[in-house]
Amino acid sequence: NSAAKQPPNPSPLRFSKFFQSNMRILVTGGAGFIGSHLVDRLMENEKNEVIVVDNYFTGSKDNLKRWIGHPRFELIRHDVTETLLVEVDQIYHLACPASPIFYKYNPVKTIKTNVIGTLNMLGLAKRVGARILLTSTSEVYGDPLIHPQDESYWGNVNPIGVRSCYDEGKRVAETLMFDYHRQHGIEIRIARIFNTYGPRMNIDDGRVVSNFIAQALRNEPLTVQAPGTQTRSFCYVSDMVDGLIRLMEGENTGPINIGNPGEFTMLELAENVKELINPDVKITMVENTPDDPRQRKPDITKAKELLGWEPKIKLRDGLPLMEEDFRQRLGVPRKN
Ligand code: NAD
Ligand code: UDP
Ligand code: UDP
Repeated sequence: NSAAKQPPNPSPLRFSKFFQSNMRILVTGGAGFIGSHLVDRLMENEKNEVIVVDNYFTGSKDNLKRWIGHPRFELIRHDVTETLLVEVDQIYHLACPASPIFYKYNPVKTIKTNVIGTLNMLGLAKRVGARILLTSTSEVYGDPLIHPQDESYWGNVNPIGVRSCYDEGKRVAETLMFDYHRQHGIEIRIARIFNTYGPRMNIDDGRVVSNFIAQALRNEPLTVQAPGTQTRSFCYVSDMVDGLIRLMEGENTGPINIGNPGEFTMLELAENVKELINPDVKITMVENTPDDPRQRKPDITKAKELLGWEPKIKLRDGLPLMEEDFRQRLGVPRKN
């Protein structure tokens, strides 16, 4: 944005001899599902030092156990609603519960995490001259009136519903990002993430893919919430991480949709899980929760053009990769 003020001085780390080619990267929420996969990818590059801050509300040290003790890795128990003083070059700001049952558990805390947490990370970015990426969400489109959703759509969000702490919280977080960019010249990146799945999802976090896989492995009926014709588009986590890193490293602020445009009804998803994981399992229809969006599918034209990114892993290839991880954690061996 040409109207933006010049950014403040870049991080002193970039001028120090030792760190000249090194990058110190902060990942908030790095003990969570997407965050821990992002950390794995960032740690593969020997020039990166990674600092994770997490309050372990939905994340776990277990997700990072391979890095604990590594000289380029640091893990800090910290809540992003409190001030944080560290010196870094980049900030991936993921901290926020993503599953409806967890973000509705303490909605006021969810709003504080999104608003005060993002404000603090922007204050930090301003102080040290770091580039900051926010993981926003397709939920900013609410129950969308256009389909598929592209980034120019302003959304159809209920401001006073039970999902609003998350949806509106992320909308304010996006606003804060752009105001810090325009007012203080902070380098920002905004990803609008669509439903993501893969190993390390919380087994009982109530999201549809983790529910169906756990149910199939436990031989319990797959609970399709009525009417079952609502749609979602599911992105495998390695594709997601690839998109986030490209966005951070590229020149575009976003917002940019990152997701897989393959669209499925919840009944189709259940049929796929049944066929791939447990052909004997039953499918049952249960009551839905309020404000459930009827359809969701990303338009990823911008990600393709600006980031050269598109997802590689189809749902039917990703589900078995996740099955393996769930079998191990649930202690359900393969039959043959
Ligand atoms: P997750 O719940 O597994 O990870 C979130 C992490 O943030 C957890 O480790 C949690 O302990 C931590 N956290 C929560 N509140 C915190 C706080 N106040 N201070 C410090 N740490 C805190 O969720 P995820 O699926 O990995 O999602 C990561 C990000 O991606 C979130 O910002 C989420 O909104 C966004 N997102 C995810 C999806 C998806 O389908 N998974 C979709 C859209 C957006
Ligand atoms: N902040 C932080 N770490 C820093 C710098 C700032 O956590 O290294 C927090 C700080 O506590 C403040 C918020 O970020 O509440 C916004 O900071 P900013 O400097 O933009 O605003 P101000 O402090 O002037 O209100
Ligand atoms: N859903 C379902 N069965 C479940 C859990 C969820 O049919 O056991 C449906 C839910 O009604 C919604 C979709 O799956 O339409 C996605 O829900 P999820 O909570 O995974 O993500 P989000 O609503 O945030 O996209």
